Amino acid sequence: MPEARKVRVRESLYIGGEWVAPSGSEAIEVVEPATEEVLGRVPRGTPADAERAVGAARAAFEGWAATPVEERAGWLRRLHEGLVGRSDEIGTLIAREVGMPISMATLIQAIAPALVVGSFADLALEHPFEEKVGASLVLREPVGVVAAITPCNYPLYQLACKVGAALGAGCTVVAKPSEVAPLSAFVLADVASEVGLPAGVLNVVSGYGEDVGAALISHPEVDMVSFTGSTPAGRAVAATAAATVKRVTLELGGKSPSVVLDDADLEEAVRATVSQCYLNAGQTCLSWTRLLVPRSRHDEAVAIAAKVAEEFVPGDPLADARLGPVASKVQQERVRSYIRKGIEEGATLVIGGPEPPVGLDRGYYVQPTVFSNVRPDMTIAQEEIFGPVLSIIPYDSEDEAVAIANGTIYGLHGAVFSGSRERGLALARRLRTGQVDVNGGGYNHLAPFGGYKQSGLGRELGRSGLEEYLETKSVQL
Ligand code: NAD
Repeated sequence: MPEARKVRVRESLYIGGEWVAPSGSEAIEVVEPATEEVLGRVPRGTPADAERAVGAARAAFEGWAATPVEERAGWLRRLHEGLVGRSDEIGTLIAREVGMPISMATLIQAIAPALVVGSFADLALEHPFEEKVGASLVLREPVGVVAAITPCNYPLYQLACKVGAALGAGCTVVAKPSEVAPLSAFVLADVASEVGLPAGVLNVVSGYGEDVGAALISHPEVDMVSFTGSTPAGRAVAATAAATVKRVTLELGGKSPSVVLDDADLEEAVRATVSQCYLNAGQTCLSWTRLLVPRSRHDEAVAIAAKVAEEFVPGDPLADARLGPVASKVQQERVRSYIRKGIEEGATLVIGGPEPPVGLDRGYYVQPTVFSNVRPDMTIAQEEIFGPVLSIIPYDSEDEAVAIANGTIYGLHGAVFSGSRERGLALARRLRTGQVDVNGGGYNHLAPFGGYKQSGLGRELGRSGLEEYLETKSVQL
């Protein structure tokens, strides 16, 4: 077996600055979506492990909160450097776990998380933790012990958003990574251990949502839950956390629109939309999965989308194919059933379909798929599919485009393409979403990220991300 395809086994959990034996004996098998073979094993943590980790995080909290911000920033810089030093290892690991093509995975799944962790060193140093308001001294203090629960699609990036902000703010963390893609969280713990991060500041307990996740969310010594995952799971998390009135931030699903105005460069807009929709095989919370085009240009847009989709030839992520598999068998089945639903409900299948791509009988591959003539009320235009499936929806007026764009339960992201920046910005202001890219404006890891409506509560990244982990105290002098 080539080195890159070796099985990675983790037998311990990272609690209180040590690698400790889990309380149970069961393991979770991590399956490589490109091969359907086991790529790794991690302990199946239990509520007892969660309890122990919360105890360690609680014990570390007072000392960490009192650590001068300059020192906390120093630790974040060391974590950043440790992650940068392991970016090739992490890129390969996540390409295998999630199925993202290796060169993209190294950039987005390994280097970007390191940058995010580093950004919180600077943000913490710049932050006004104390402020005079008349006769009051207003203090911004860390919330306390944070449970960080993360999803499978960008496993280290999502963890980095939480750990960087929480540690910068002075909170301690118990991380529960996705059971589908848990291995990079262990690499982060390796780095924390190597740099000598004070014991208990970061703890990692692998396991399932219903046991480790639920134990953390209901634990009275956990002050905040920072959750990233699907909207149904987010609703359950918020409901459980309500019993102990915890602070909750939720980064949830999306059904983001890409609105192409009549003065846009259609080729450029459609190319950008298809490419963004298929990023990570469509397993990206902010995917532009709905392409809204003027009815008069619908057929032209369909032809361009089909041409671009054909460039996304599925194949092995480690061979850097353009389109990898989706992360799990369950997800593959879900995506296929949505494609069938689109056909049943009368959308036009332009390219792709529910069958596996030709020549790829092994692996959780899905054909890059484009539907046209999609009505806004169709299931494929309303629900998050989380696969490489684009719905092209025609509109008759700008007002109608806005109504369609805003006409789902989600509000995470969106795009506007226009020949005029001002017109693009004016339309961006009308979208009920937490982020909008105008004419392909690039990703900014210092800009607040999060959802309107059922895409979430709170913001990650940048100063807003740090502030989520702070309580406010007014002292009258
Ligand atoms: P998921 O909801 O299945 O799982 C996410 C995490 O929550 C996992 O760690 C899981 O074990 C845990 N979990 C699930 N149910 C739980 C419960 N009831 N209590 C406690 N923990 C629970 O999501 P996934 O399939 O891993 O990730 C994909 C989803 O995440 C998509 O909906 C995607 O849009 C969303 N996402 C959102 C963002 C964002 O920033 N808004 C970023 C990435 C992913």
